[in-house]
Amino acid sequence: MDQYINTDRMMVRTFKAGEWVFHEGDSGDCAYLVESGEVQIVLERGSELIPLVCYGEGSLFGEMSIIGDQPRSASAFAQSDCKLRKISREQINRRLDQADPILKVCMSVLIGHLKKSLAKYDQDQSKEPELSLDEKLRLAADHAVLPSKQVESDDQPATSQTKPNTPVVKADPIASDMFARALSTINLENDLDTALQDDELVLFYQPIIEANTGRLAGFEALMRWIHPERGMISPGDFIPVAERSGQMVAMTHWAVKQACKDLGEMRNLFLSSMDLSANVSENMFMSVNFSSRDFLDADLMNKVQELLQTYDLPKNSLKIEVTESVLVSSPKEVTNALNNCRDHGASVAIDDFGTGYSSLSYLQTLPADTLKIDQAFIRPMHEDERHMALVESIIHLAQRLDMVTVAEGVETEQDAQALASLQCDYLQGYYFARPMPVTDVIRWVNEKWNSEF
Ligand code: C2E
Ligand code: CA
Ligand code: CA
Repeated sequence: MDQYINTDRMMVRTFKAGEWVFHEGDSGDCAYLVESGEVQIVLERGSELIPLVCYGEGSLFGEMSIIGDQPRSASAFAQSDCKLRKISREQINRRLDQADPILKVCMSVLIGHLKKSLAKYDQDQSKEPELSLDEKLRLAADHAVLPSKQVESDDQPATSQTKPNTPVVKADPIASDMFARALSTINLENDLDTALQDDELVLFYQPIIEANTGRLAGFEALMRWIHPERGMISPGDFIPVAERSGQMVAMTHWAVKQACKDLGEMRNLFLSSMDLSANVSENMFMSVNFSSRDFLDADLMNKVQELLQTYDLPKNSLKIEVTESVLVSSPKEVTNALNNCRDHGASVAIDDFGTGYSSLSYLQTLPADTLKIDQAFIRPMHEDERHMALVESIIHLAQRLDMVTVAEGVETEQDAQALASLQCDYLQGYYFARPMPVTDVIRWVNEKWNSEF
């Protein structure tokens, strides 16, 4: 019987030589990546097995019935002891849902062609003359491993034989770098599925400072994954995986709620203290990053108002950060969703401004009130006059459009002073503080401004 191993939290299935992986007609609930060993794909015809193809290490099989949404069109057994990693129907479908419609059509046509050639091959094979029992037995000895024919006795020793004189075609493995990437993505994605339930995701908050007063204006919430074996994983490594797999929407739901809850608690703490309230804006805001698919989720959009009420947050204390590239991907949907959020009391910031290579015309129609100047402009500001000119122009542009500016990546006092004199409204960067867990933020604020601490 196949065995489940749960080492390193990864779901892997091992099969002994001769064991069936699946049978023709079974419902296809997953595809498999072959991590070691070999798997033979066959057609079961009476007492014969017609070999189709053999998959070795670094191959993928079983994807056809998922993409074609049909039962297994052939059977598979372990040619040698093997280790297979499952990719679930859901994981494949989530990707298919996001695929370009033309690509989807091409895939389904391709699967159709494959099925037809398989049916034809099957027909051609069955026209060949039957072999005598003697011949079958003689040829059976040539095959080192043969699987059981009975579905109900999966782990019985082999009793039937593959059809002789049919050449066994060996599938080309996937290019090794592509296979390694697929494996790492699948592992990360499988682990992410439980990360939310197991409280492995946390939000770090980075303070944002008012440039002209030095007071605390708000925070940006930045996600971290504390993986039980791999330690802290940065968002650059897991957010793209979650965006491609469709897991991001659930994660954003969680992030918005957690960020509103923590903001509510920090408001209560900071604004009730004399010392702190003098140094903390009464309109303290919380910025949360949104991905493109979040804007298609009506539930999430409607949740905004509810959260502001639940955590007793004033209007505009939740700021939704959206990058230019998200706007370019589906301008109409995103603009509608942002208008909706604004109607529900959230404010909107354009993140990484200046890096999205989009036309500036969207600035007229977008319901945004904040421009975040990307760190790529801030960092070289002092070495290159042209960058300083660009930053100054962005600040002027924002002022003319009635928007406030946040400079990201402020790392030195020199940066902070230059930006304040250019009339940038808010500053964010390592010069003030790195992103930190909420308990560290509370300590940081108290150490900085509370005389009794
Ligand atoms: P971002 O939204 O542009 O966030 C700012 C990034 O700059 C953060 O990286 C922050 O730690 C870093 N940073 C802040 N100040 C400085 C500085 O002075 N110098 C330098 N060199 N870096 C600074 P982080 O936390 O690694 O996040 C990377 C990106 O991951 C974010 O870029 C954002 O695009 C994405 N991300 C993070 N959390 C979330 C989330 O909850 N949802 C979504 N959709 N994306 C997120
Ligand atoms: Ca951001
Ligand atoms: Ca940014």
